[in-house]
Amino acid sequence: MNFEKISANTLNLLTKVKNNLENSRNRRQILIDSMAKKENKGMDCKSCIGHCCTFEHNSMMPTAIEALELLGYLVKEKRLDQELINSLNNNKNSYRLDKDYVHGTNKQIRKFYTCPFFNSGSLGCSISRGAKPYGCLAFNPNEALVKKPGHCSSQKRLLEKRDQLFFEQEEQVNNYLTKELGIFWQKRNISMALLDLINLLGKN
Ligand code: SF4
Ligand code: SF4
Repeated sequence: MNFEKISANTLNLLTKVKNNLENSRNRRQILIDSMAKKENKGMDCKSCIGHCCTFEHNSMMPTAIEALELLGYLVKEKRLDQELINSLNNNKNSYRLDKDYVHGTNKQIRKFYTCPFFNSGSLGCSISRGAKPYGCLAFNPNEALVKKPGHCSSQKRLLEKRDQLFFEQEEQVNNYLTKELGIFWQKRNISMALLDLINLLGKN
């Protein structure tokens, strides 16, 4: 696999869509601010082993632009290598993440899986807030010192507000990306979304 070519194509594509899109951090800022406010009140994830990132509760499905920004982050962090590909493939195989469509139809199945970027225990997520899927940023504890599941929730209204704020530009960019790359999904689990992008960006 030609990682240099994939990295260059990823960054080029991000540059191409930049003119039509508020930057990655700004589009996540209301979610990040809300998380920070909760943290200031002691509602953080420090006491938790990360239930929401494991197969118990995680079924995150990023859009094309979220997946591309995540890949761009990994490229910039110099984490796009064979080790990452192996980890994504292992994750795909462990949770049958490629079997996410009903055979012969375009009906998508939401899969539960432990995120490939989850480091168990207090280490938690290895992705920066500016590059995380929106749904990850919106899922927060509702009280301090959470240890067990059931004390956290998704801030759905804030997610909707964020979606509304950037709907037009993100829809335009997602349509452009699906056409440009030839992807057939609107959203997909993290491992398959990244593997698809990596594969396609290695060909172009
Ligand atoms: S959001 Fe809740 S379940 Fe997820 S890591 Fe934080 S405390 Fe744990
Ligand atoms: S990207 Fe981070 S926060 Fe989101 S599911 Fe993966 S480990 Fe959890």
